[in-house]
Amino acid sequence: MNDKSIALVTGANRGIGLEVCRQLARRGSVVLLSARDLAKATAAAAELTQQGGTVHGIALDVSDDKSVAAAVRWIESKFGRLDVLVNNAGGNFDIANQASTVAMDYVRETLEMNLIGAWRVTQAMLPLLRQSEHGRIVNVSSQAGAFDGAGGFGLQLMGGAAPAYAVSKTALTALTVKLAAELRGSNILVNVVCPGWTATCPGAVEQGARPVAEGAGSVVWAAMLPDDGPTGGFFRDGQPLRW
Ligand code: NAP
Repeated sequence: MNDKSIALVTGANRGIGLEVCRQLARRGSVVLLSARDLAKATAAAAELTQQGGTVHGIALDVSDDKSVAAAVRWIESKFGRLDVLVNNAGGNFDIANQASTVAMDYVRETLEMNLIGAWRVTQAMLPLLRQSEHGRIVNVSSQAGAFDGAGGFGLQLMGGAAPAYAVSKTALTALTVKLAAELRGSNILVNVVCPGWTATCPGAVEQGARPVAEGAGSVVWAAMLPDDGPTGGFFRDGQPLRW
């Protein structure tokens, strides 16, 4: 990938998304750091700009059509194209839930955030990505949603735990495969990454989670693939994962 790519990251005011922005900025991308709270996006963008990057903070709530449409209009007017879309926003790792009892409102909220949000943003940004010579879409999923998991994470390995989260991430991975198949032959590569168990909450390092820089690096790898790179794959650290 060339430098000065225009890269949009969702849910980027903290955690993996923020670190993806930092790493993309270091590599020379113009980074659009988005968050549902504009003040948080602006503050995080200012911090990365101080470190030497070109980073713009923008408001983007992946669950809100109007917010997504406004972000499209802003990117269109300022750049006329988008090279990289990282669908990172997500959460609701419902480790204490079981499929038989989890509240349906919670399931809906989780699917909206982890699946439909990424789907909505992707559909809206596609016209701008089609203007790029090197379009890349990276969906941040999880091995928790993989049938063939490993290291304690997977649909079967986790037993009944985290049903809403796991199902939403299985579906996000499936969406990636469908979209990649549709876009094969275009300039847009679409892949899905599991960053691995990453220390984005207090105490996680002590429990064995890996540093945020490593989890984010996994995502950045897929954002910076060369034109002959893979599409429709599920990866961690540049290596294929079974799902
Ligand atoms: P995190 O620290 O909880 O951050 C989640 C981000 O998503 C926050 O910026 C949050 O914004 C944002 N978000 C939530 N709903 C949103 C919405 N409707 N619109 C826009 N942004 C929204 O999570 P993380 O650990 O960095 O994880 C990032 C991604 O990696 C997630 O998709 C997660 O499922 C995936 N993942 C993480 C791990 C891990 O071990 N950490 C492992 C596998 C996969 P607010 O600050 O406003 O809430």
